[in-house]
Amino acid sequence: MASTRGQEGSVGRDGRRQSFLANPANLSLIVVLTLAAGSILGGVYVLGRALSPSEQVQDPLSVSAPPDTRPTHATTPGNPPAPPSRSATSPSPTPTESVRETTPADDRPRLALERGGPYGARLTSGSADVALTFDDGPDPSYTPQVLDLLAEYQVKATFCMVGEQAAAHPELVRAIVAAGHTLCNHSWSHDLTLGSRSRTAIRSDLARTNAAISAAVPGTRIVYFRQPGGAWTSNVVGAAWELGMTSLHWAVDPRDWTQPGAGSIASTVTAGVRAGSIVLMHDSGGDRQQTVNALHTILPNLLRRFELSSLPTGPPSTSTDNTGATASGAPRLDTSVRTPDPSAGATEPSAAAVR
Ligand SMILES: [Zn+2]
Repeated sequence: MASTRGQEGSVGRDGRRQSFLANPANLSLIVVLTLAAGSILGGVYVLGRALSPSEQVQDPLSVSAPPDTRPTHATTPGNPPAPPSRSATSPSPTPTESVRETTPADDRPRLALERGGPYGARLTSGSADVALTFDDGPDPSYTPQVLDLLAEYQVKATFCMVGEQAAAHPELVRAIVAAGHTLCNHSWSHDLTLGSRSRTAIRSDLARTNAAISAAVPGTRIVYFRQPGGAWTSNVVGAAWELGMTSLHWAVDPRDWTQPGAGSIASTVTAGVRAGSIVLMHDSGGDRQQTVNALHTILPNLLRRFELSSLPTGPPSTSTDNTGATASGAPRLDTSVRTPDPSAGATEPSAAAVR
């Protein structure tokens, strides 16, 4: 019985299969189901490729972003965190677009963190323009080379002068001013501990420096101060303010004074600069040939992507004397612009207002 039932069953299944396959409608159903299954499997494969990490995507990214292309200022004691990338914090145009497509100065986006440096020091240029700054000069070996390159590329920059250097090389102070660059006070003798001295002593140091610069170029405006080494204190920022000077920090520091090589200086600057960045370099204080050589790369590279300008000095003042005789030229200190929200930029004072 069992075997018969088994045979019967087998015969019966074969019979049903034959009759099932013999039906053209059932054959069509099998074909359709097979094709559908194939499509589903194919779709899953494609989806899996899209979701899985792809070597073809990730390898170029890791190659094009060397591990040490960020500004190195974060390693310097007392420096603030880097300003957030504009493209990372908002859907605003890329730096290139914002510069190229909004030529009138008033239409340029106002950048947040303009006063985001230590103790309210200026951290950005105040516009989309990139500001190159050169510290510790003037120097008879390197300042003329820097001036020649800036002239060749028609770029205005800002020079943070040491008083002793200005007093020793007044002709270089005059050459810098004649070329239309902006001046900045960098203390009398590059005193890294200046900020720990009394307010009166700080004022005396800064006023002496301004006097040396003014002796070379009478009537010139010195509306910026940069603390040597970035060793800011509230006292030094306040003393500068009393003398009519905005404290000037930076956002991109290639540490050119460590002589890391012209290639390293150039790559750190070109990779680290964003719209509005202030770049710290040196035209004095040691062998600065690497910095000069790096400018051959930095200037054409940045000019393809940004406008480069000196920091604004504001309208001519009725009192050009900030050698300590008057504080009437004091800039407005504005602490209300620390928000990283670019939409808040409309409330920021204009560059002219804060000078
Ligand atoms: Zn310096």
